[in-house]
Amino acid sequence: MPSSADHHPSPKIWKTGACHCGAVRFRVRDHFTEVLDCNCSICRKKGLLHLIVPAEDFETTTPSSAMTLYRFNTKTAKHWFCTTCGVSPFYVPRSHPDGFDVNARCIDDLDLTQVRVKRFDGDNWEQNIDTIAGYES
Ligand SMILES: [Zn+2]
Repeated sequence: MPSSADHHPSPKIWKTGACHCGAVRFRVRDHFTEVLDCNCSICRKKGLLHLIVPAEDFETTTPSSAMTLYRFNTKTAKHWFCTTCGVSPFYVPRSHPDGFDVNARCIDDLDLTQVRVKRFDGDNWEQNIDTIAGYES
């Protein structure tokens, strides 16, 4: 059947992921063809590669008690990290407060050499946010 996703070479699929120690696990559904590399104050220090998905394409499979919440500046984003190992497998981004921003480096069996990396100038967030508004269908 025709669908809005026909322009993609592959359908959305679910993949699993986790922090380093495994206390925080999740599943995410996407095409896994493109991620964002952001240069804002926190992303450049954490080295995240972002995969931004709507809430229906993400779920945690471990208790939220395994995570600690870090917030700063506008306090819109929820920067969750594993209380045990410190890794951030995902968070709720300021750009998409109704969705999730998954750290592509934490996804199991994702070959990042096969994924397009798009630069996002998050250091100038207000001027550039329109370039990543919305979600991929
Ligand atoms: Zn951990």
